[in-house]
Amino acid sequence: MDKDDFIFRKNPLYDALVRSTDDYIYMCYWPENIFLFPQTMVDEFNLPGQIIEDADNVWSSLIHEDDKDNFFKAILDINNGNTNIHNVEYRAKNKHGEWVWLRCRGYLERDINGNPGLFAGIITNLGRKNKIDHMTGLFNKFEFEVQINNILLNSDLNCLILVLGLDDFRHINDLYNREFGDEVLRITSQKIQTLLPSNASIYRLDGDEFGIILKNSDENQVKDIYKKIKSEFQHQQIYNSHKYYCTISGGCSVYPKDGNDFMTLFKFAEYSLEYSKTRGKNRLSFYDNNIMKQKSRSLEIIELLRESVENNFENFELYYQSQVDAETRQLKGSEALLRWKCKEYGSVSPVEFIPLLEQTGLIIPVGKWIFEQAVKTCKEWLDKYPYFMMNVNLSYIQLAEDDFISYMKDVLKENDLAPSHIVVELTESYIASSGLAETFERIRGIGIQVAMDDFGTGYSSLEVLKTAPADIVKIDRAFVKDILKSTFDATFIKFIVALCHDVSVKICLEGVETEEEYNMVKDMKLDLIQGYLFGKPLPKSVFLEKYLN
Ligand code: C2E
Ligand code: CA
Ligand code: CA
Repeated sequence: MDKDDFIFRKNPLYDALVRSTDDYIYMCYWPENIFLFPQTMVDEFNLPGQIIEDADNVWSSLIHEDDKDNFFKAILDINNGNTNIHNVEYRAKNKHGEWVWLRCRGYLERDINGNPGLFAGIITNLGRKNKIDHMTGLFNKFEFEVQINNILLNSDLNCLILVLGLDDFRHINDLYNREFGDEVLRITSQKIQTLLPSNASIYRLDGDEFGIILKNSDENQVKDIYKKIKSEFQHQQIYNSHKYYCTISGGCSVYPKDGNDFMTLFKFAEYSLEYSKTRGKNRLSFYDNNIMKQKSRSLEIIELLRESVENNFENFELYYQSQVDAETRQLKGSEALLRWKCKEYGSVSPVEFIPLLEQTGLIIPVGKWIFEQAVKTCKEWLDKYPYFMMNVNLSYIQLAEDDFISYMKDVLKENDLAPSHIVVELTESYIASSGLAETFERIRGIGIQVAMDDFGTGYSSLEVLKTAPADIVKIDRAFVKDILKSTFDATFIKFIVALCHDVSVKICLEGVETEEEYNMVKDMKLDLIQGYLFGKPLPKSVFLEKYLN
């Protein structure tokens, strides 16, 4: 076969191949440097026609200066007879003047004497392939950047960048599995899309985040859009007869007010999203100085926490808050609560530093330290009070560690403490994950009790109470706060008590601060109460002095 068969005559096989793919399939008669390119490539790069003679010169004029060496070296290798395979990536300028990355793969046929003959292969347009996120079908983060840069070049447009993140998305992955999580992302992206006005476009960013670009817009419009999204995701959703609950947080930065390059604007939108999440999620924040300060503070605190951990947990301390019998007001046990201070910021609230420990993974060593301290303290106090119960908070990250349960078992054994004196507290949204039922059974299997913490604030499904293998339910203090005014809260508590007692689960009410509040709840048949009325969290020695001596 000669070059005419391949290049100049109509070749149905070539036509069929070209139609079957987005890639550019090319053929070349090497000795004469004549190429046949598909029409799609001619269009994209404004080539003079499908058949190009002197192709090296025509094509190389479109290749990026920085990539030319690579490109020619690959050709030289073939000419020198070093290889028959061509495999190179480079940038070329398309008809819009944009640089697109191309990956070129080819194979050269030689005759029996080793002389080059036909050369054929595939060019993949990475620039185009990389635009789309396959899971959601949305444009991806690369395109997000390209579009923002386009707007920034056109200086008379303003634009707002809104980054949305699903709250506690990992719970959904835990609750079912990754495929289900992927579906949730897909459905969520579709729902958000239907709520957007025509000047907005949506992109899939990394993980559970979406980016929205709003051209010629203002903060009011962003607030308006967010309000719609928030109300859409306020309720439990159902997919494939599985129920899930997932709110959405947002962070927004404004061009040109907050910055004038992509990196700055995107970073500030991300900081604002983070800020929304640490302020209780399910909310929108606009970038401002305060957010920047908060971010710098978090970064500094992370370094100081790391230092504390490395210095043998210096500046960490456990405080203990009493839990009393709801009827007799007698001491039953305590909850261990972590405290941390530093020279720069004084005492920092656990609400602020625990998420930072979780983010950085430092919660693993710190969590072990907490558990050991709490077990040792409990052991000491049993001498004074043989029925004492010690509650310890666990973070979901600790349980993801494979050996955490056997670790707890070992610590109890080393300290010669019966496991029945320990209760581990896990938050409600975490316990609701059915996939974890097995983990809880294993915890209970070594004799430790499990408490469902902050009940009523998260995944508020009463079904959880029937299926979750908890020994104790702790009703969040939000329900006590308004109990004097709200009959709903009082009814809610009574209802939970009845439901739990039905399945032999005990109830602890958190946050009782006044006698008035206690009077409201004392006949509700609660088991335990934990609140300032009966004692604030205290250092170990003070607790011992106050309750046990
Ligand atoms: P939590 O587990 O719900 O702990 C109860 C929180 O409510 C404590 O705040 C306690 O001081 C507070 N509290 C108790 N009674 C009352 C009351 O009557 N009124 C009011 N206003 N507040 C009351 P704290 O110590 O600031 O801890 C906050 C959160 O930090 C904890 O919430 C828990 O989620 C986390 N945390 C604390 N220590 C640890 C720990 O050792 N490990 C882990 N993983 N998380 C911890
Ligand atoms: Ca707790
Ligand atoms: Ca709690």
